[in-house]
Amino acid sequence: MKRLILIGASGSIGSQTLDVIRQHSDELQLVGVAVGYNIESLTEILKEFPVSYAYSIERNEQLEQQFTAVRFFYGEDGLLEIVRLPDYDMLVNTLVGFTGFLPTLEAIKNHKDVALANKEALVAGGNLINAALKEYGTKLYPIDSEHVAIWQCLQGHPKKDVRRLILTASGGSFRNLKREELADVTLEQALNHPVWNMGSKITIDSATMMNKGFEIIEAHFLFDIPYEKIDVIIHPESTVHSMVEYEDGSIIAQMGVPDMRLMIKYALLYPEHLPDRQTNYLDLGKVGELHFRDIDYHRYPLVKLAKQVGAFEGNFGAILNGANDEAVSLFLNRKIRFIDIETCIFKTLQNAHFIKEPTIPQITESYDWARENVDQLIRNKLI
Ligand code: MG
Repeated sequence: MKRLILIGASGSIGSQTLDVIRQHSDELQLVGVAVGYNIESLTEILKEFPVSYAYSIERNEQLEQQFTAVRFFYGEDGLLEIVRLPDYDMLVNTLVGFTGFLPTLEAIKNHKDVALANKEALVAGGNLINAALKEYGTKLYPIDSEHVAIWQCLQGHPKKDVRRLILTASGGSFRNLKREELADVTLEQALNHPVWNMGSKITIDSATMMNKGFEIIEAHFLFDIPYEKIDVIIHPESTVHSMVEYEDGSIIAQMGVPDMRLMIKYALLYPEHLPDRQTNYLDLGKVGELHFRDIDYHRYPLVKLAKQVGAFEGNFGAILNGANDEAVSLFLNRKIRFIDIETCIFKTLQNAHFIKEPTIPQITESYDWARENVDQLIRNKLI
């Protein structure tokens, strides 16, 4: 029985993780759960799962009275306190954005394995996370379709034989639009992803392809492969979740239905491929055709930018993250246009102060600075 603490439980990946735990209650036990402000969702989870620990940002006395066997945590430090608890085996981090960085580090320092859907943690502080994994002897498992795929495609093969990692990209909500056509797109159109059912932040990141850029950096840190050996290809069906090409010309691909529960399950139950209780199997005869096309970096400049930022290292990942988090939040609140997201990110990186080997506080400061810089650019009408 693997004992889990799930943080970000009320989000899209969080609720799909709960589904996996439900389907595999013989193997997985939820012992702790964290949400942000969504008390309704927390109440439902506490009714269904006999957890020992629960976290929400604000204290809720009614909840404490209703669930007397649960120990509650609150506030800014509460999230770190819950991951520092001794009696669990794995942290499942499905938080969105930079908020997931410090809890990931704390869990590793607490000698716990981490299943990570929060790619921003690696983008902002991948070097620090990898150093901590080495120091504390724990494991990091990805919950991201491309990386779960690559992870499987790498198994049993010497790393020296890898020629390229090939990340597939669906192309996002605007994949059929030209660059000039992006000027007038709406929030509603951006939120309408053609294949994957995800939360709003990552759906916007898919439309700008910042998400794919983040995934390049994520792949670099997870698999220790240099940036020049990580490529992206557009694959509209999202049936091939990603591939590894070897020096002899062999390409190994991982396929399946585009359902995140498949990826979550693999990360939580690795190395097993347990039967799918929802019989979510891919019918290739019905799929019929698969399509691939080269990515146009002029159409998706953030992908190229992410590769450059990744290769720079230092605090630029945190800057990239902060600028993107703030710009996407402004777009979701209808304060800026879709195409302004890119401009916010490019201008913020131009204004940024580079730190070669940032400490943990410097990562947080860089992230906060980038958010503030985006706000200033908008306030001063520089975008
Ligand atoms: Mg992905």
